[in-house]
Amino acid sequence: MNDELEMFCNQCSQAAHGEACTTTGICGKQPTLARLQDNLSYAVKGVAAYSYHLRELGVVDDEIDAFLTKAVYSTLTNVNFSAEDFIAMALEAGRVNALAMRLLKDAHIAAYGEPEPTKVQTGAVRGRGIVVTGHSLKALEELLKATEGTGINVYTHSEMLPAHAYPGLKKYKHLVGNLGKAWFDQKRLFAGLEIAILGTSNCVLLPLEKYRDRMFTIGIACLPGVKHIEGYDFAPLIEVARSLPELTETAGEVELTTGFSASTILGLKDKIKGLVDEGKIRHFFLVGGCDSPFSSMDYYRRFVAGLPDDTIVMTLACGKFRFNDLDLGDIEGVPRLLDLGQCNDAIVAVDIASALAETFGVGLNELPLTLVLSWMEQKAVSILWSLLALGVKGIYLGPVAPPWVNDEIMAVLTEQYDIRLIGEAGRDIDEALGATVAV
Ligand code: SF4
Ligand code: SF4
Repeated sequence: MNDELEMFCNQCSQAAHGEACTTTGICGKQPTLARLQDNLSYAVKGVAAYSYHLRELGVVDDEIDAFLTKAVYSTLTNVNFSAEDFIAMALEAGRVNALAMRLLKDAHIAAYGEPEPTKVQTGAVRGRGIVVTGHSLKALEELLKATEGTGINVYTHSEMLPAHAYPGLKKYKHLVGNLGKAWFDQKRLFAGLEIAILGTSNCVLLPLEKYRDRMFTIGIACLPGVKHIEGYDFAPLIEVARSLPELTETAGEVELTTGFSASTILGLKDKIKGLVDEGKIRHFFLVGGCDSPFSSMDYYRRFVAGLPDDTIVMTLACGKFRFNDLDLGDIEGVPRLLDLGQCNDAIVAVDIASALAETFGVGLNELPLTLVLSWMEQKAVSILWSLLALGVKGIYLGPVAPPWVNDEIMAVLTEQYDIRLIGEAGRDIDEALGATVAV
């Protein structure tokens, strides 16, 4: 940490030197308190994101709204100087975020059915196309309706991949595949393909001139010089897609499988218990979260590739693109790599872990399960606090420590939740497996 920048607060007119309080607040605010306020603000933004997508599906929840109002107000100038209270509110943000993720999962299932394991092509199909990035299944559904029968193919990108597994979306035959990997390959991917583009949420990048005219946003997403779709009227986007040359048929490098729902995995619960009892499954891992363009993210591929054959890996969110091309095979019919879906499907992982803990008659932290998470932005912060609020301990976190966490906050996270920063993949695997307790 930069010793000269203990904190950064510029939220009132008393800010030091008319710029910012960077060592301690003129008002008395201490660095750890400022950082805990930042932490709550980030977690709250994650809750807001899931709440926004819930509203797209017509669901409004008073408890979420009341919490968001209270949490945002608490960070206003001279309201709350209690560090303990901000830790309690971060945990409350985690609990409310778990509620938002659960309601969103329920709303997705109510609208589109429960996901089922589905193979997804990753090449281009001959013809004109639109690629959809972001997270909004509602925007994708409306686009699929609007493009049905037009001859335009629709592709997913990044966190939209799990859409292929929902019966209510995969029924559209012109939803033909997934292009690219995690969010940060947008410039390379979109510049290299003559395709129309729709950005539906966070994780859209400022476009290159080369494709700005064929890119559109919808909902919360907005980019300078990029047209915004209002009211699900996709006519301008379809017109641009029609004006482009046809894509050439290209084979994808890999076929991906997504859509392992709680029902699918828990339908195998007895079989999984038998395999654990026989020693054929030793340990479960949840390796997931955000991807980011740093070489340190290679850790997650090394980690998954280095796991022994008697382990199962659940994954979710766009961090999976670091390793979802690996063929991990299966253990007597149980796939070793299970893609649960988007980041909000962390709640599916929680449900699966809770059901397995019940099956084995142990607590969540006694399961032979290790969480190895990657974070990039603020939805990941809300998910981390959800897991902590649910009492999950021993999480490995990377690729870097959150920059707003100082030594004092890290000491609390380590002491109370046994949070560890990722280290060397092989060593972390040995450590996780070494801690395996027979169930
Ligand atoms: S709220 Fe306090 S710490 Fe922040 S700028 Fe004002 S005086 Fe400084
Ligand atoms: S998982 Fe995180 S980094 Fe990836 S697309 Fe979603 S919000 Fe962005």
